[in-house]
Amino acid sequence: MTNESTVIVTGGSRGIGAAACRVLAGRGHAVAVNYTRDAAAAEALAAEIRARGGRALAIQADVADAQQVAALFARADRELPPLRALVNNAGVVDLPARVDEMDAARLQRMFAINVFGSFHCAREAVRRLSTKHGGRGGAIVNVGSAAARLGSPGQYVDYAATKGAIDTFTLGLAREVAAEGVRVNAVRPGLIATEIHASGGLPERARQLAPQVPMQRAGNADEVAQAIAWLLSDEASYTTGAILDVSGGR
Ligand code: NAP
Repeated sequence: MTNESTVIVTGGSRGIGAAACRVLAGRGHAVAVNYTRDAAAAEALAAEIRARGGRALAIQADVADAQQVAALFARADRELPPLRALVNNAGVVDLPARVDEMDAARLQRMFAINVFGSFHCAREAVRRLSTKHGGRGGAIVNVGSAAARLGSPGQYVDYAATKGAIDTFTLGLAREVAAEGVRVNAVRPGLIATEIHASGGLPERARQLAPQVPMQRAGNADEVAQAIAWLLSDEASYTTGAILDVSGGR
């Protein structure tokens, strides 16, 4: 992949998505920095990438909304080089709760963003990348979670279940489009120090749980971004349907 290719990173305005945008821009890709609420953060990141000589565009879209996702991809088509890759990174947690306390609205939101959002974006990407549709091929990385293996009891089993779905989605889509020039892989981060924990009401979570990690520390967003960038790169040309744990051994 070279300068004249675009990567769309959902949830690119902060955390793992922002780190991925920086790494991918550093590797010469134009980057679409998707976000929902924090326009200032997304615009600041895009400006930072441009100031370093890269190409970046902040684009608002709620990945849970299929029409907004279509508009996101259409804008990238118009204003950036041809699409080469997608990072399905946008994801949310919710406040700690047991399953017997979760209402339908919570479950709808969680699955709409974390699962349906990844399907909506992958659909748009495959329509552009697959040789079946006249595309030149490309790659997708889904951001799952070690929660898919751990289940997150007493905290957010709903979130863990959405990430279990991402594992299966990765395997299925990878095999579906493997002969069409599109590789699909996932990273499964463990405990990573980002703002997502505060959004789930547990701002100290990464620090508090660090002793449970075999490496005895939380990871940082760049350590996940490097794995994402490798899976998207031509160095991973024979890797598809893989789920890569980036979790310090957890
Ligand atoms: P984060 O710091 O909370 O950032 C989340 C990003 O997603 C923000 O850019 C946010 O943009 C965006 N976003 C939220 N809802 C969205 C929506 N509906 N449509 C589009 N964008 C949306 O989270 P993070 O820790 O970097 O997590 C990124 C991914 O890694 C998630 O899929 C998460 O599940 C996964 N993960 C994280 C950890 C961890 O410990 N941090 C561990 C395992 C997996 P706005 O601010 O504009 O809303």
